[in-house]
Amino acid sequence: MKVLVINAGSSSLKYQLMDPSTQEVFAKGLCERIGIDGRLTHKVPAKDLKKEFEIPMPTHAEAIQSVLDALVSPEHGVIGDVKEIDAVGHRVVHGGEAFNKSVLITDDVMKAIEDCIPLAPLHNPANLTGIRACQKVMPGVPMVAVFDTAFHQTMPEKAYLYALPYEYYEKDKVRRYGFHGTSHRYVSARAAAMLGKPIEELKIITCHLGNGSSIAAVDHGKSVDTSMGFTPLAGLPMGTRSGDLDAGILQYLMNKYGWNIDECLNVLNKKSGVLGISGVSSDFRDIESASKEGNHRAEVALEAFQYGVKKLIGAYAAAMGGVDAIVFTAGVGENDAKTRMAAASGLEYMGVKMDEAANNVRGKEAVISAADSKVKVLLIPTDEELMIAMDTAEIVNG
Ligand code: AMP
Repeated sequence: MKVLVINAGSSSLKYQLMDPSTQEVFAKGLCERIGIDGRLTHKVPAKDLKKEFEIPMPTHAEAIQSVLDALVSPEHGVIGDVKEIDAVGHRVVHGGEAFNKSVLITDDVMKAIEDCIPLAPLHNPANLTGIRACQKVMPGVPMVAVFDTAFHQTMPEKAYLYALPYEYYEKDKVRRYGFHGTSHRYVSARAAAMLGKPIEELKIITCHLGNGSSIAAVDHGKSVDTSMGFTPLAGLPMGTRSGDLDAGILQYLMNKYGWNIDECLNVLNKKSGVLGISGVSSDFRDIESASKEGNHRAEVALEAFQYGVKKLIGAYAAAMGGVDAIVFTAGVGENDAKTRMAAASGLEYMGVKMDEAANNVRGKEAVISAADSKVKVLLIPTDEELMIAMDTAEIVNG
């Protein structure tokens, strides 16, 4: 079965054509500058081929059409006919409380995704545009929506409610939703497979550490808590996002500098996190180089991030009454041995013992804890596209 996975942003669109049963990726790529001019980067992994094109993309429909043209191209295509695409899986950021799993896209589903726009005003409209564009150029092909929030819908009330007047939850749906759900679901399932145990018997803490970072407590296969909240601004300090902070700071800074709320949120979203503390970069590689050269603020930025991860590991072990496995994934989690070591060391009292040599690994599945560690620490590269393709195949095949 051939599934096209689409992740549509406001001016970009990532795609991957794959077979979820063999996990073979036939082609993948990226449309950029949609609505401006248009650029397509198209890769065919089996041929180690990468092509770049300037193609006018006034809307997402032209972008999708250019993807289909690339997929069937005699020079760099991978299929003979667009009809070979059996289904399309779409990443959708926010499913609110309406979706606790992936679903076949119908008119009712489109309406429900529209209803979630106030919760994700930047992302959901772009995701909807991507779906509509696909429907236009591939009429009749079944399509599935896979939500970033769905996996966390199993959180209990005590974990998802903010201590605000209850009416803001009831009336306005202000609650913790959590994000990166597709990644947390994928790596927790892989962790169970690596440990050779049913996920229903395991307590797992999944650390998705990338430019955006979140941690989840996955108890018996269900997310019971996670660090991102009503929006992805919450939890850990990230590349440029502040993570959790005292809401009183907003009032103080807004009064002091005469900012409106948008200016304040711009600082919290784009100028904070490890970039804000270090003043160097949002990229951990740059911050690590600066730290090595003796830049104190870079060193503290890394320490603050690692400390944040460690505190949440402790908190989620407490929440679940123990932990069997800790998983590191995403850009930083998969590549940065130092951060993994710092975040998971000093936890011997709770049965976590890292193995420095085993941890000296990048980008592949590995056990990085010592052989006698009660809690297994795992490196698992995330694969949200595969998860989306697998959900799509399962739903379309009934
Ligand atoms: P992601 O959002 O999952 O794509 O992760 C992107 C982030 O991963 C980048 O901003 C880097 O900070 C980080 N990253 C990638 N490679 C490395 C590396 N070798 N060492 C440290 N951090 C890395």
